[in-house]
Amino acid sequence: MDFDLSQEHKLLQSSVRDFVEKEIRPLAIQIDEQHRIPDELVAKMGAMGLLGSYLPEAYGGAELDILSYAIAVEEVSKACASSGILISAHTSLACDPILQFGSETQKQRWLPDLAAGKKIGCFLLTEPEAGSDPAGLSSLYRREGNDFVIKGTKFFITNGGFLGTGILFATKDRSLKHKGLSAFIVDLSSPGVEVMRNESKLGIRGSYTTDFALNELRLPAENLLGAEGQGFKIAMETLNGGRIGVAAQALGIAEGAFERSLAYSKIRKQFGSPISEFQAIQFKLADMYARIEASKLLTYRSAWLKQNKKPYAADSALSKLHASETATYVTKEAVQIHGGYGYITEYEVERMYRDAKITEIYEGTSEVQRLVIARALLAGG
Ligand SMILES: Cc1cc2nc3c(=O)[nH]c(=O)nc-3n(C[C@H](O)[C@H](O)[C@H](O)COP(=O)(O)OP(=O)(O)OC[C@H]3O[C@@H](n4cnc5c(N)ncnc54)[C@H](O)[C@@H]3O)c2cc1C
Repeated sequence: MDFDLSQEHKLLQSSVRDFVEKEIRPLAIQIDEQHRIPDELVAKMGAMGLLGSYLPEAYGGAELDILSYAIAVEEVSKACASSGILISAHTSLACDPILQFGSETQKQRWLPDLAAGKKIGCFLLTEPEAGSDPAGLSSLYRREGNDFVIKGTKFFITNGGFLGTGILFATKDRSLKHKGLSAFIVDLSSPGVEVMRNESKLGIRGSYTTDFALNELRLPAENLLGAEGQGFKIAMETLNGGRIGVAAQALGIAEGAFERSLAYSKIRKQFGSPISEFQAIQFKLADMYARIEASKLLTYRSAWLKQNKKPYAADSALSKLHASETATYVTKEAVQIHGGYGYITEYEVERMYRDAKITEIYEGTSEVQRLVIARALLAGG
């Protein structure tokens, strides 16, 4: 067993770090305050290969592995969690299902623009009445000749505001529950897709969280992803992979807050000495670090399992559960270590504290992750 990163992974890590320091970190406060990531930055992420990291070169990707993708999301999220989830949702929730379930024609048609960042990907599953229980969704589709026609509402769609390429889930009959779901690839600038609003929220404010109405959206049959009735399987398998991205985002947020706290504790003096000399602060740093290191091992292992086509659903749930709870814990302690300055925008840990919370909610809440893990344990997995 080798716990060290390979030379290739170290190189990737250091080049993403350089990119983040130059292009992302200086904009992180502005992204939070202006509730958007500048188009120029998205274009630079595309040029850097961050938007097609593990897609094959044949479809315009960088053909790296899933661990490289996780490392990239982690590094970006250390400075800006909104940018981290842009990459993660785009890659895991839009590119990945096309790669896994798409026909060759669909891969050639949709993936190159996604890999280049000409289109930003998103995943349209959640509805006002269907969150943790997507089998209960009520967006309805029907077949009309060679088209599918879809009517419904989708809530909370990360990256939705870019109006790029979405993986959309709808049912042909609600009484069929999960067996009724199908997945479709949709160009969100199509007629029939209406933006209801971009939500205002606690954290990851630079990330679009968009609500859509689908008004008789007409899609050609060739936009069906996988087979009819396969939508639930596509959604669940996609989320298994997505959780590695969210774990990497949470890990990055925690590391960003930890690095700042460690540095601050050495320069901030009270009672005549740096606060790092107080055992109360030392214990906080040790506890933060211990949880971060455990999250990192779990996250990297999930990426390795997926890459090597081994069962990884419970592991990705475990890494997301641990890393997200680590992120909320570490960022809370980071604010505390900074005292009053921790509450001030300029010191950035207040943003990280707000950003961390969502990692316990999206792509399955912590309660749902515990269910996934417990079911695997009880099944002998
Ligand atoms: C910023 C943001 C971005 C998002 N991005 C996307 C996206 O890109 N695409 C998308 O499709 N969705 C997205 N979502 C939706 C997100 O995945 C859901 O909000 C999440 O899955 C929870 O669903 P819900 O909000 O309906 O909560 P509910 O399912 O109503 O849950 C409410 C509470 O009940 C608990 N609960 C529910 N069921 C159980 C159970 N069986 N056992 C124990 N506890 C349970 C939950 O854990 C939670 O604490 C996003 C949400 C947000 C806020």
